[in-house]
Amino acid sequence: MPGFRRPFLAANWKMNHGPSEARAFMSAFLASHSPRNDRTIAIFPPALSLGVARDALGARKDILLGVQNIHWEPKGAYTGENSAPIARDAGATLVLVGHSERRHVFGETDDATSKKCSAALQHSLTPMLCVGEKIDQRERGETNSVVVRQLRTGLSMVEKTALGAVLIAYEPVWAIGTGKTATPQDASAVHDVIRKELEALIGSSEAAAEIPILYGGSVTRDNAKALLSAPGVDGLLVGGASLDAGSWSAIAST
Ligand code: PEP
Repeated sequence: MPGFRRPFLAANWKMNHGPSEARAFMSAFLASHSPRNDRTIAIFPPALSLGVARDALGARKDILLGVQNIHWEPKGAYTGENSAPIARDAGATLVLVGHSERRHVFGETDDATSKKCSAALQHSLTPMLCVGEKIDQRERGETNSVVVRQLRTGLSMVEKTALGAVLIAYEPVWAIGTGKTATPQDASAVHDVIRKELEALIGSSEAAAEIPILYGGSVTRDNAKALLSAPGVDGLLVGGASLDAGSWSAIAST
């Protein structure tokens, strides 16, 4: 069905759940979550826990795995980094690019996000480009221009024909880990801006309509339904509330 995007529910564990905790989490989550074909579920563990998560999934192909960051080079002298081919080999099919903590804690630039999106696609890793404004930018009325700039730059090295393969997450920085959530109306308004920019970049409203745009920022099992029901919100990227298997299981079933 053109324009139908099945809900995309993604868990970003950030720097939580090492291999032992990841094993316990996966066992509890998989026991409570049966495969469903009406949604896409993805988990972004820390890179060192990816192998445990992959092994726990075994034959369960209904849950995708991703890494939280990559370097844009495929290999080389970049101590401490992971590349797209390494992430693929370890079991990831997705990568977060430009998460606000990468941008604002580690100084990741728009330029770096564009190299990372391009590198991911070259190595069959689907980038989830995260965009969102800081509170001062929102208060100055700059939300739309910030988000459009992050999209344009982040996707600038991606071939037009490959743009349909990306995922976008709108994550207002002031809502991440703060307990403050965008209202469903606010989220819808920004998702609409993002969709229109994707249409302009791809040159096709039909192709842009297929790209899932997720909302992230203090999503919980209590507000997930309202946010997911907002027009233009195709999924949720969940940090803190994805760390508990019960809470994540509830959100994954929203
Ligand atoms: C995130 O890390 O992407 C996020 C949205 O975090 P939280 O849900 O904790 O706000």
